Amino acid sequence: MNTPSPFQVNDLFRDWSVLRSQIEEWAVKDRFAFKVQIKDSQQADYICRTPEYQWRVFASHNRNKEIQLKILNERHTCIGRASTIREVHNSQSWLRRKVPEHLFVTRDTTTRQIIDILQLNYGITVNTEAARLARASLVNDRIEHQQEQFLKIPAYLELLRERNPWIHTSLHTVGSEHNPEAQHFQHVFICPAESQLSFI
Ligand SMILES: [Zn+2]
Repeated sequence: MNTPSPFQVNDLFRDWSVLRSQIEEWAVKDRFAFKVQIKDSQQADYICRTPEYQWRVFASHNRNKEIQLKILNERHTCIGRASTIREVHNSQSWLRRKVPEHLFVTRDTTTRQIIDILQLNYGITVNTEAARLARASLVNDRIEHQQEQFLKIPAYLELLRERNPWIHTSLHTVGSEHNPEAQHFQHVFICPAESQLSFI
């Protein structure tokens, strides 16, 4: 049941989040839960969640300010114990990273679909509330990301016109029914000078 450690003592890490996410993946694969004993800018100490833990990963800055793995104890005394809500696969950090690898989450995605796809790929059952939260934040991210992208269109068109004085552009939007300040994107039309001339 134990998968081999993804780490070796003295491994170096680009940043703390890389170490953390690799530990999360290992924990989900091997069905154990870990906790953070110490974490600050200089060091991170992860231990198994059982009180009589053996499993431990400790990393800290070395003299070159690199993140270096210093202590690694791969042995577990807890594997196969009853699952708890605190398991890694119920953490938002793991869910927000993993769900998009398998599912393009939109408003139409259901919490059930998220739970099922994770069951299928990892053989784990995610807590419904955790899946619901992850769904909500992933949907939000997507909408925010799209809004950001659409807001860049006018500036992009202006730049195009500056660089290509003969270009023709037009952007069509309609006012929102619900919010008088907001505009909904309809379409954008860009006609390069070369195309206009070819019509003459
Ligand atoms: Zn353990």
